[in-house]
Amino acid sequence: MAEVAQETTYVRHHKQKIAFILSAMRHFAEELRERNFVVDYSRLDDAENRGSFTGELTRAVARHRPERVVVTEPGEWRVRAMMDLWPEQLHLPVEIRTDDRFLCSLADFGLWARDRKTYRMEFFYREMRRRTGILMDGENPCGGRWNFDAANRQRLSHTIKPPERFGSAPDPITRDVLELVRARFGDHFGGLEGFSWAVTRREALSALDHFVLKALPFFGDYQDAMALHEPFLFHALLSPYLNIGLLLPREVCQAAEDAFRHGHAPINAVEGFVRQILGWREYVRGIYWLEMPHFATTNALAADRPLPWFYWSGETQMNCMASTIADTWRNAYAHHIQRLMVTGNFALLTGIRPAELEEWYLAVYADAFDWVELPNTHGMVLYADGGLLASKPYAASGAYINTMSNYCDTCPYSPKIKIGPGACPFNFLYWNFLIQKRAFLERNPRMTMPYRTLDRMSQDRRRAILQQARAFLERL
Ligand code: FAD
Ligand code: SF4
Repeated sequence: MAEVAQETTYVRHHKQKIAFILSAMRHFAEELRERNFVVDYSRLDDAENRGSFTGELTRAVARHRPERVVVTEPGEWRVRAMMDLWPEQLHLPVEIRTDDRFLCSLADFGLWARDRKTYRMEFFYREMRRRTGILMDGENPCGGRWNFDAANRQRLSHTIKPPERFGSAPDPITRDVLELVRARFGDHFGGLEGFSWAVTRREALSALDHFVLKALPFFGDYQDAMALHEPFLFHALLSPYLNIGLLLPREVCQAAEDAFRHGHAPINAVEGFVRQILGWREYVRGIYWLEMPHFATTNALAADRPLPWFYWSGETQMNCMASTIADTWRNAYAHHIQRLMVTGNFALLTGIRPAELEEWYLAVYADAFDWVELPNTHGMVLYADGGLLASKPYAASGAYINTMSNYCDTCPYSPKIKIGPGACPFNFLYWNFLIQKRAFLERNPRMTMPYRTLDRMSQDRRRAILQQARAFLERL
């Protein structure tokens, strides 16, 4: 096992993300040694460390003189390209094994996708339910329907209090890593205070129990809600553990299903949660490997604006943006709707360059790895793939954010003002986006309604929208 500098800095990852991964690696190495495995481990600050996977593997090959190298397929195209060079560089056979921490292998995804004109997640998800038997009663979906999304759109009320976050106190191994990260990556985005991610399998299993017991019953109802100073709501906070292998997708789905079968959580919560893991998570991975490397190069909406600096500093008057970025800085976490409908929506409406936004998302979240970050940002958020992943852009005005959150209550802008002084920027940016991208979007049947509304607006109003958006974008 090797900690390598290249992986910690090829994007400037959040400090907590680096600490989380290094600490989990060191704990895992210890557990293996306790079970009498021989572990050859190089640390980031070892004098001899060459700082890259290839460099460290070359050194290890010189030490151990193996007959062959066996690795698991990686989570990133960039690393796969590196691995493909190893047989020649090392003069050894290299066996790349299937990553069995997923429920759908890449080969099976390829078979599912073959001969399909569109790859809609919902069909993939149903297939996965059938194939795994998760949340099934024989041939039928539990509760009689595949999807209970329509029940999952509640705003958080004052009377509902989300549970405390599950936390693990740093032990000496983690404290060492926190020191290392403070010293070496002090200028990276994000704070380390209150670091409490689980770093062992045992702790991750406790985090899963905590979620199932305390949050899952309300997960569905408040899945799309956002609230000031409530960064976690009823979300699982399990993605970092799933993505580095401390938890496995089947056991997580099984724990949720058991909660439903024992009457502890309702079907809308459990189905909504299972869909994220069995559906979205497996689906975006399949799309990533099916479509890379071309996928990353598309830019269907010709977005070419640099990423505004406030994505890093949080300095903006837009309360929803400032809060989401502050949560991200503090926790290396924001939940899905913050990522999609706040920072993502803003980037879509303002036409941020895909590569710059992708780098931001890859850097700032503890759960971010290319196979899952890229399809979500490039496809779901930016529609840069032209609709391969999402059937329409997730563009929304301030009204959506106002309906689903309390951010607007304390914002200097008003979601009710559409244009002129005090208007919420999401409002005029939304209509500006529809006007600017009309040629590309208006034939999409799911965009008919917004274009009809746009066409009912007077010429003067449309002109005013364009003017205010232009002035705002120039200042950006
Ligand atoms: P919950 O809301 O409790 O959901 C449960 C689980 O479902 C998650 O743990 C996760 O494993 C899975 N999941 C939910 N939505 C998705 C999705 N769209 N794609 C894949 N898995 C999903 N997720 C990552 O794991 N890594 C990323 O780098 C990442 N980047 C994202 C970037 C953008 C722009 C967007 C819109 C979403 C991104 N997501 C990413 C998906 C999702 O936002 C996170 O998985 C989720 O917020 C993790 O928090 P949670 O564990 O509390 O999730
Ligand atoms: Fe965000 Fe607009 Fe609401 Fe302010 S008014 S919080 S900018 S949606």
